[in-house]
Amino acid sequence: MIKIAVCGAAGRMGQRIIASIIEADGVALSGALDRPGHPQTGQDVGLVAGCGALGVNLSDDLNAVVAGCDVLIDFTSPKVSLKNLEVCVLKGKSIVIGSTGFTPEERAFAAELAKDIPAVLAPNMSVGVNVCFKVLKDVAKTLGDDFDVEIVELHHNRKKDAPSGTAVRMGEVVAAALGRDYATVANCHREGMCGERTKEEIGMQTVRGGDIVGEHTVYFIGMGERIEISHRAMTRDMFARGSVRAAKWVVGKAPGLYDMQDVLGLN
Ligand code: NAD
Repeated sequence: MIKIAVCGAAGRMGQRIIASIIEADGVALSGALDRPGHPQTGQDVGLVAGCGALGVNLSDDLNAVVAGCDVLIDFTSPKVSLKNLEVCVLKGKSIVIGSTGFTPEERAFAAELAKDIPAVLAPNMSVGVNVCFKVLKDVAKTLGDDFDVEIVELHHNRKKDAPSGTAVRMGEVVAAALGRDYATVANCHREGMCGERTKEEIGMQTVRGGDIVGEHTVYFIGMGERIEISHRAMTRDMFARGSVRAAKWVVGKAPGLYDMQDVLGLN
């Protein structure tokens, strides 16, 4: 039985991850963590997540929760996740990080820390989105430079980072397949007399509103034809199930930083 603890347990994703752990085989919930001072600290996390009492209380004691688990699933923010990664390294535990919005420097730091423990860091844990990453690579390679690439993402009005981690990863996959550097060619701002679109740029558009779970479309726009590759998430449950699948997969792996493509065997 793999013991899983959840960080960000009272959040939108954390609650669905708690529910997914209860439904999954071969795993048990060993701990649940949220920020110090969270108003539900001390309450049964099953009640917080709306799935009945589980006998595990919401804690703010990072060291104790990590000590009691085999793997920590963390859906918070990059700064919190890096701190949690450090504690997992100190205690020799595995970690699955779903937080998004990492800067390239933060991602490099995570890779450095993960030299000592097995860790999964992925901006999107749904099977469908990860299949999209694979398809996008093939489509971009085949179409080459003749098609303009634009990416549009839609999310709920509480999302803190933009463009979404998934949209950035889609941009990185397409840019790499076309032999471009994403950081150089991503264009997240068009306003006023900004001039004609360059051939190399990848336009990144962000929509925020209501309760949209997450939608991504990559447009490959040519002369007289257009390909659109879209993914629409209807609920958060497949991200949660994906994180539990990653947690089961990562325990016992060689140290290093993996992503969802590794977990799903798509690499
Ligand atoms: P949320 O704001 O609902 O939840 C975040 C939780 O983290 C909150 O309960 C907050 O109190 C808690 N938290 C903050 N600081 C903390 C600390 N120091 N220690 C412990 N807990 C702390 O956000 P959300 O919608 O659940 O998303 C969380 C993250 O997951 C975001 O970065 C989001 O983009 C990402 N996300 C990833 C995927 C994926 O598949 N990888 C899918 C959906 C969301």
